[in-house]
Amino acid sequence: NNEELYCIGCGVKIQSDDKDELGYTPKAAVKKGLEKEELYCQRCFRLRNYNEITDVSLTDDDFLALLNEIGKSDALIVNVVDIFDFSGSIIPGIHRFVGDNPVLLVGNKEDLLPHSLKRSKLKDWLRQSANAQGLRPLEVVLTSAKKNQQVRELLELIDKYREGRDVYVVGVTNVGKSTLINQIIKESTGYQDLITTSRFPGTTLDMIKIPFDDGSELIDTPGIIHKDQMAHYLTGKDLRLAAPQKEIKPRVYQLNPGQTLFLGALARFDYVAGEKQGVVVYAENNLMIHRTKTAGATEFYAKHAGELLQPPADITNLPELVRFEFKTKEKSDLVFSGLGWVSVKADSVVAGWAPKGVAVSLRKAMI
Ligand code: GDP
Repeated sequence: NNEELYCIGCGVKIQSDDKDELGYTPKAAVKKGLEKEELYCQRCFRLRNYNEITDVSLTDDDFLALLNEIGKSDALIVNVVDIFDFSGSIIPGIHRFVGDNPVLLVGNKEDLLPHSLKRSKLKDWLRQSANAQGLRPLEVVLTSAKKNQQVRELLELIDKYREGRDVYVVGVTNVGKSTLINQIIKESTGYQDLITTSRFPGTTLDMIKIPFDDGSELIDTPGIIHKDQMAHYLTGKDLRLAAPQKEIKPRVYQLNPGQTLFLGALARFDYVAGEKQGVVVYAENNLMIHRTKTAGATEFYAKHAGELLQPPADITNLPELVRFEFKTKEKSDLVFSGLGWVSVKADSVVAGWAPKGVAVSLRKAMI
Protein backbone atom coordinates (compact mmCIF):
# COMPACT_ATOMS: atom_id res chain seq x y z
CA ASN A 1 0.00 0.00 0.00
CA ASN A 2 0.98 3.61 -0.35
CA GLU A 3 0.75 4.70 3.26
CA GLU A 4 3.59 7.08 4.03
CA LEU A 5 5.52 6.21 7.17
CA TYR A 6 8.18 8.29 8.85
CA CYS A 7 10.90 7.54 11.35
CA ILE A 8 10.15 9.14 14.71
CA GLY A 9 13.89 9.54 15.25
CA CYS A 10 15.12 11.46 12.25
CA GLY A 11 11.94 12.07 10.31
CA VAL A 12 13.06 10.26 7.20
CA LYS A 13 10.44 8.55 5.08
CA ILE A 14 10.55 4.80 5.74
CA GLN A 15 11.25 2.54 2.78
CA SER A 16 11.99 -1.18 2.52
CA ASP A 17 13.32 -1.30 -1.02
CA ASP A 18 16.86 -0.03 -1.07
CA LYS A 19 19.27 -0.95 1.70
CA ASP A 20 21.73 1.78 0.81
CA GLU A 21 19.28 4.64 0.81
CA LEU A 22 18.04 6.79 3.64
CA GLY A 23 15.05 5.45 5.52
CA TYR A 24 15.69 1.80 4.82
CA THR A 25 13.91 -0.45 7.30
CA PRO A 26 13.24 -4.15 6.76
CA LYS A 27 9.52 -4.96 6.35
CA ALA A 28 9.41 -7.05 9.54
CA ALA A 29 10.90 -4.18 11.53
CA VAL A 30 8.31 -1.79 10.10
CA LYS A 31 5.56 -4.10 11.28
CA LYS A 32 7.06 -4.38 14.77
CA GLY A 33 7.61 -0.65 14.98
CA LEU A 34 3.99 0.04 14.08
CA GLU A 35 2.78 -2.45 16.67
CA LYS A 36 4.86 -0.73 19.35
CA GLU A 37 3.87 2.68 17.97
CA GLU A 38 7.58 3.45 17.86
CA LEU A 39 8.70 3.27 14.29
CA TYR A 40 12.35 4.05 13.74
CA CYS A 41 14.24 3.65 10.50
CA GLN A 42 16.94 1.04 10.71
CA ARG A 43 19.65 3.63 11.13
CA CYS A 44 18.00 5.32 14.09
CA PHE A 45 17.03 1.98 15.56
CA ARG A 46 20.62 0.84 15.54
CA LEU A 47 21.88 4.12 16.88
CA ARG A 48 19.39 3.98 19.71
CA ASN A 49 19.73 0.36 20.61
CA TYR A 50 23.25 -0.60 19.78
CA ASN A 51 24.99 2.71 19.30
CA GLU A 52 25.75 1.46 15.86
CA ILE A 53 26.38 3.77 12.99
CA THR A 54 25.02 2.67 9.66
CA ASP A 55 26.55 4.37 6.74
CA VAL A 56 23.79 6.33 5.15
CA SER A 57 25.16 9.77 4.52
CA LEU A 58 23.54 12.80 3.06
CA THR A 59 24.64 13.65 -0.41
CA ASP A 60 26.45 16.95 -0.68
CA ASP A 61 23.56 18.38 -2.66
CA ASP A 62 21.02 17.49 -0.03
CA PHE A 63 23.26 18.82 2.67
CA LEU A 64 23.80 22.12 0.90
CA ALA A 65 20.10 22.48 0.21
CA LEU A 66 19.38 21.89 3.87
CA LEU A 67 21.91 24.50 4.94
CA ASN A 68 20.58 26.98 2.40
CA GLU A 69 17.06 26.49 3.63
CA ILE A 70 18.12 27.22 7.17
CA GLY A 71 20.28 30.13 6.07
CA LYS A 72 17.38 31.74 4.21
CA SER A 73 14.98 31.58 7.10
CA ASP A 74 14.62 33.93 10.02
CA ALA A 75 14.85 31.41 12.81
CA LEU A 76 16.45 30.45 16.09
CA ILE A 77 19.07 27.75 15.63
CA VAL A 78 19.62 25.18 18.35
CA ASN A 79 22.92 23.42 17.77
CA VAL A 80 23.30 20.23 19.80
CA VAL A 81 26.83 19.01 20.51
CA ASP A 82 28.29 16.14 22.49
CA ILE A 83 30.36 17.60 25.33
CA PHE A 84 32.75 14.66 25.01
CA ASP A 85 33.23 15.14 21.32
CA PHE A 86 33.13 18.80 20.48
CA SER A 87 35.32 18.46 17.37
CA GLY A 88 33.28 15.49 16.20
CA SER A 89 30.14 17.59 16.71
CA ILE A 90 31.02 20.48 14.43
CA ILE A 91 28.83 20.86 11.38
CA PRO A 92 31.14 21.82 8.52
CA GLY A 93 30.54 25.43 7.52
CA ILE A 94 27.97 26.05 10.25
CA HIS A 95 28.96 29.68 10.76
CA ARG A 96 28.27 30.41 7.10
CA PHE A 97 24.73 29.15 6.98
CA VAL A 98 23.78 30.42 10.40
CA GLY A 99 24.31 33.96 9.13
CA ASP A 100 22.69 36.48 11.42
CA ASN A 101 20.36 33.96 13.02
CA PRO A 102 20.70 33.59 16.78
CA VAL A 103 22.16 30.33 18.06
CA LEU A 104 21.68 28.39 21.28
CA LEU A 105 24.46 25.91 21.89
CA VAL A 106 23.36 22.76 23.70
CA GLY A 107 26.10 20.63 25.24
CA ASN A 108 24.51 17.25 25.72
CA LYS A 109 25.41 14.19 27.86
CA GLU A 110 25.97 16.24 30.98
CA ASP A 111 25.15 13.21 33.13
CA LEU A 112 28.53 11.72 32.24
CA LEU A 113 30.54 14.52 33.83
CA PRO A 114 32.13 13.91 37.21
CA HIS A 115 30.36 15.75 40.02
CA SER A 116 33.50 17.69 40.86
CA LEU A 117 33.59 19.32 37.44
CA LYS A 118 32.44 22.93 37.48
CA ARG A 119 29.70 23.27 34.91
CA SER A 120 30.53 26.93 34.35
CA LYS A 121 34.07 26.02 33.26
CA LEU A 122 32.81 23.52 30.76
CA LYS A 123 30.34 26.05 29.39
CA ASP A 124 33.15 28.59 29.00
CA TRP A 125 35.20 26.05 27.12
CA LEU A 126 32.27 25.16 24.85
CA ARG A 127 31.71 28.82 24.14
CA GLN A 128 35.38 29.39 23.30
CA SER A 129 35.43 26.31 21.10
CA ALA A 130 32.31 27.54 19.31
CA ASN A 131 33.83 30.99 18.87
CA ALA A 132 36.86 29.38 17.29
CA GLN A 133 34.44 27.96 14.68
CA GLY A 134 33.00 31.39 14.03
CA LEU A 135 29.88 30.61 16.02
CA ARG A 136 28.69 33.09 18.64
CA PRO A 137 26.00 31.41 20.71
CA LEU A 138 23.63 33.56 22.76
CA GLU A 139 23.85 31.01 25.52
CA VAL A 140 25.37 27.65 26.25
CA VAL A 141 23.10 25.12 27.94
CA LEU A 142 24.13 21.75 29.35
CA THR A 143 21.54 18.98 29.11
CA SER A 144 21.17 15.30 29.63
CA ALA A 145 18.70 14.14 27.05
CA LYS A 146 19.01 10.63 28.39
CA LYS A 147 18.15 11.55 31.99
CA ASN A 148 15.83 14.37 31.03
CA GLN A 149 17.91 16.96 32.85
CA GLN A 150 17.69 20.63 31.91
CA VAL A 151 15.37 19.86 29.01
CA ARG A 152 12.60 21.99 30.45
CA GLU A 153 15.10 24.80 31.05
CA LEU A 154 16.21 24.48 27.45
CA LEU A 155 12.63 24.77 26.27
CA GLU A 156 12.22 27.92 28.35
CA LEU A 157 15.32 29.43 26.76
CA ILE A 158 14.09 28.46 23.33
CA ASP A 159 10.84 30.21 24.05
CA LYS A 160 12.66 33.26 25.35
CA TYR A 161 14.90 33.63 22.31
CA ARG A 162 12.75 32.52 19.42
CA GLU A 163 10.46 35.55 19.62
CA GLY A 164 7.78 33.99 17.53
CA ARG A 165 10.17 32.50 14.99
CA ASP A 166 10.68 28.93 13.87
CA VAL A 167 13.38 26.90 15.56
CA TYR A 168 15.79 24.62 13.74
CA VAL A 169 17.47 21.91 15.78
CA VAL A 170 20.71 20.89 14.10
CA GLY A 171 23.43 18.45 15.00
CA VAL A 172 25.61 15.69 13.64
CA THR A 173 24.68 12.08 14.41
CA ASN A 174 25.55 10.60 17.81
CA VAL A 175 25.31 13.80 19.82
CA GLY A 176 21.95 12.72 21.26
CA LYS A 177 19.74 14.90 19.11
CA SER A 178 17.04 12.24 18.64
CA THR A 179 16.97 11.51 22.34
CA LEU A 180 16.65 15.23 23.02
CA ILE A 181 13.88 15.71 20.46
CA ASN A 182 11.97 12.82 21.99
CA GLN A 183 12.25 14.44 25.43
CA ILE A 184 11.15 17.77 23.99
CA ILE A 185 8.12 16.10 22.47
CA LYS A 186 7.26 14.51 25.80
CA GLU A 187 7.76 17.77 27.69
CA SER A 188 5.91 19.91 25.24
CA THR A 189 2.91 17.88 24.16
CA GLY A 190 2.86 14.39 25.57
CA TYR A 191 1.55 13.23 22.22
CA GLN A 192 3.80 12.05 19.50
CA ASP A 193 1.05 12.40 16.88
CA LEU A 194 1.39 16.12 16.98
CA ILE A 195 4.52 15.79 14.91
CA THR A 196 4.16 16.47 11.27
CA THR A 197 6.82 15.70 8.74
CA SER A 198 7.52 17.31 5.48
CA ARG A 199 10.24 17.42 2.92
CA PHE A 200 13.14 19.82 2.84
CA PRO A 201 12.62 21.82 -0.31
CA GLY A 202 14.87 20.59 -3.08
CA THR A 203 16.03 17.46 -1.28
CA THR A 204 14.95 13.91 -0.59
CA LEU A 205 15.20 14.60 3.13
CA ASP A 206 12.32 14.60 5.50
CA MET A 207 12.12 16.55 8.68
CA ILE A 208 10.05 16.48 11.83
CA LYS A 209 8.07 19.53 12.78
CA ILE A 210 6.62 20.13 16.19
CA PRO A 211 4.14 22.98 16.23
CA PHE A 212 4.26 25.73 18.86
CA ASP A 213 1.02 27.31 20.06
CA ASP A 214 1.61 30.43 17.98
CA GLY A 215 1.87 28.56 14.70
CA SER A 216 5.66 28.56 14.44
CA GLU A 217 7.45 25.26 14.47
CA LEU A 218 10.36 23.45 15.97
CA ILE A 219 12.03 21.68 13.09
CA ASP A 220 14.28 18.68 13.61
CA THR A 221 16.79 18.46 10.79
CA PRO A 222 18.40 15.18 9.69
CA GLY A 223 21.56 14.29 11.58
CA ILE A 224 24.62 14.81 9.50
CA ILE A 225 27.36 12.23 9.70
CA HIS A 226 30.68 13.64 10.87
CA LYS A 227 33.39 11.37 9.60
CA ASP A 228 35.96 12.35 12.22
CA GLN A 229 34.26 10.71 15.15
CA MET A 230 35.86 7.95 17.14
CA ALA A 231 32.44 6.29 17.00
CA HIS A 232 32.79 5.57 13.30
CA TYR A 233 35.75 3.28 13.85
CA LEU A 234 33.99 1.14 16.39
CA THR A 235 31.23 -1.43 16.32
CA GLY A 236 28.39 -1.16 18.82
CA LYS A 237 30.02 -3.35 21.45
CA ASP A 238 33.39 -1.63 21.24
CA LEU A 239 31.74 1.76 21.34
CA ARG A 240 30.04 0.89 24.61
CA LEU A 241 33.44 -0.04 26.01
CA ALA A 242 35.08 3.13 24.78
CA ALA A 243 32.56 5.97 25.02
CA PRO A 244 31.56 7.01 28.55
CA GLN A 245 28.34 5.29 29.65
CA LYS A 246 27.95 6.50 33.26
CA GLU A 247 29.26 9.31 35.41
CA ILE A 248 33.01 9.25 35.02
CA LYS A 249 35.16 8.30 38.00
CA PRO A 250 38.61 9.86 37.80
CA ARG A 251 41.53 7.43 37.75
CA VAL A 252 44.95 8.58 38.96
CA TYR A 253 48.29 7.29 37.64
CA GLN A 254 51.63 8.28 39.16
CA LEU A 255 53.85 8.85 36.15
CA ASN A 256 57.47 9.69 35.53
CA PRO A 257 58.56 11.25 32.28
CA GLY A 258 59.17 8.48 29.77
CA GLN A 259 56.00 6.63 30.71
CA THR A 260 52.98 6.03 28.51
CA LEU A 261 49.35 5.14 29.06
CA PHE A 262 47.32 3.33 26.43
CA LEU A 263 43.55 3.81 26.50
CA GLY A 264 42.59 0.53 24.93
CA ALA A 265 44.00 0.62 21.41
CA LEU A 266 42.25 3.94 20.77
CA ALA A 267 44.53 6.50 22.28
CA ARG A 268 47.90 6.93 23.83
CA PHE A 269 49.21 9.43 26.38
CA ASP A 270 52.96 10.02 26.66
CA TYR A 271 54.44 11.86 29.59
CA VAL A 272 57.41 13.42 27.78
CA ALA A 273 58.99 15.78 30.30
CA GLY A 274 58.31 17.27 33.73
CA GLU A 275 58.34 16.20 37.34
CA LYS A 276 56.86 12.99 38.63
CA GLN A 277 53.11 13.58 38.99
CA GLY A 278 49.72 11.98 39.35
CA VAL A 279 47.91 12.39 36.05
CA VAL A 280 44.16 11.91 36.16
CA VAL A 281 42.34 10.00 33.43
CA TYR A 282 38.70 10.85 32.74
CA ALA A 283 37.29 8.22 30.42
CA GLU A 284 34.73 5.42 30.39
CA ASN A 285 35.11 3.71 33.80
CA ASN A 286 35.67 0.28 32.27
CA LEU A 287 38.03 1.40 29.54
CA MET A 288 41.27 -0.52 29.91
CA ILE A 289 44.28 1.63 30.68
CA HIS A 290 47.69 0.09 30.24
CA ARG A 291 50.93 1.65 31.49
CA THR A 292 54.21 1.06 29.71
CA LYS A 293 57.54 2.70 28.89
CA THR A 294 57.40 5.29 26.12
CA ALA A 295 60.60 3.92 24.62
CA GLY A 296 59.00 0.63 23.58
CA ALA A 297 55.42 1.87 23.26
CA THR A 298 55.18 1.96 19.48
CA GLU A 299 56.38 -1.64 19.13
CA PHE A 300 54.16 -2.63 22.04
CA TYR A 301 51.16 -1.15 20.24
CA ALA A 302 52.03 -2.81 16.95
CA LYS A 303 52.19 -6.15 18.70
CA HIS A 304 49.22 -5.91 21.06
CA ALA A 305 46.60 -3.58 19.54
CA GLY A 306 43.32 -5.47 19.20
CA GLU A 307 44.52 -8.13 21.66
CA LEU A 308 45.98 -7.06 24.97
CA LEU A 309 45.01 -3.49 24.05
CA GLN A 310 41.25 -3.30 23.49
CA PRO A 311 38.84 -1.89 22.42
CA PRO A 312 38.53 -2.30 19.55
CA ALA A 313 38.81 -6.05 19.29
CA ASP A 314 39.28 -5.74 15.55
CA ILE A 315 41.72 -3.10 14.41
CA THR A 316 41.41 -3.63 10.66
CA ASN A 317 39.43 -0.42 10.16
CA LEU A 318 41.20 1.60 12.80
CA PRO A 319 43.38 4.35 11.33
CA GLU A 320 46.94 4.63 12.65
CA LEU A 321 47.48 6.73 15.76
CA VAL A 322 48.75 10.23 15.10
CA ARG A 323 50.84 12.15 17.65
CA PHE A 324 50.28 15.71 18.92
CA GLU A 325 52.67 17.26 21.43
CA PHE A 326 51.84 20.02 23.90
CA LYS A 327 53.54 21.96 26.67
CA THR A 328 51.27 23.03 29.51
CA LYS A 329 51.49 26.53 30.95
CA GLU A 330 48.86 25.85 33.57
CA LYS A 331 47.02 22.82 34.88
CA SER A 332 45.51 21.39 31.68
CA ASP A 333 43.41 18.66 30.13
CA LEU A 334 44.66 16.76 27.12
CA VAL A 335 41.39 16.02 25.35
CA PHE A 336 40.82 12.99 23.13
CA SER A 337 37.64 13.84 21.27
CA GLY A 338 34.89 11.29 21.88
CA LEU A 339 36.90 9.46 24.51
CA GLY A 340 37.69 11.74 27.43
CA TRP A 341 40.73 13.59 28.75
CA VAL A 342 43.87 13.34 30.84
CA SER A 343 44.53 16.07 33.36
CA VAL A 344 48.15 17.17 33.89
CA LYS A 345 50.00 19.79 35.92
CA ALA A 346 51.58 23.00 34.66
CA ASP A 347 55.01 22.81 32.99
CA SER A 348 54.56 19.33 31.60
CA VAL A 349 55.36 18.21 28.08
CA VAL A 350 52.85 15.62 26.97
CA ALA A 351 51.84 13.93 23.75
CA GLY A 352 48.41 12.61 22.83
CA TRP A 353 47.91 10.05 20.09
CA ALA A 354 44.54 9.32 18.49
CA PRO A 355 43.31 7.60 15.33
CA LYS A 356 43.99 9.80 12.32
CA GLY A 357 41.13 12.31 11.96
CA VAL A 358 40.14 12.22 15.63
CA ALA A 359 41.03 15.48 17.35
CA VAL A 360 43.49 15.80 20.22
CA SER A 361 43.58 19.19 21.94
CA LEU A 362 44.68 20.98 25.08
CA ARG A 363 42.42 23.07 27.29
CA LYS A 364 42.58 24.67 30.71
CA ALA A 365 41.84 22.00 33.32
CA MET A 366 38.15 21.65 34.10
CA ILE A 367 38.75 20.30 37.60
P1 GDP B 1 21.61 11.39 17.42
O1 GDP B 1 22.34 10.58 16.40
O2 GDP B 1 22.25 12.71 17.63
O3 GDP B 1 20.16 11.50 17.16
O4 GDP B 1 21.85 10.66 18.81
P2 GDP B 1 20.96 9.64 19.64
O5 GDP B 1 19.83 10.34 20.30
O6 GDP B 1 20.61 8.46 18.82
O7 GDP B 1 22.02 9.26 20.76
C1 GDP B 1 23.29 8.70 20.46
C2 GDP B 1 23.79 7.91 21.65
O8 GDP B 1 24.04 8.78 22.73
C3 GDP B 1 22.78 6.89 22.17
O9 GDP B 1 23.49 5.77 22.65
C4 GDP B 1 22.13 7.59 23.32
O10 GDP B 1 21.64 6.71 24.30
C5 GDP B 1 23.27 8.40 23.86
N1 GDP B 1 22.79 9.61 24.50
C6 GDP B 1 21.94 10.53 24.01
N2 GDP B 1 21.75 11.53 24.89
C7 GDP B 1 22.49 11.22 25.98
C8 GDP B 1 22.71 11.85 27.24
O11 GDP B 1 22.18 12.91 27.56
N3 GDP B 1 23.56 11.21 28.10
C9 GDP B 1 24.16 10.04 27.80
N4 GDP B 1 24.95 9.48 28.72
N5 GDP B 1 23.97 9.43 26.63
C10 GDP B 1 23.15 10.00 25.73
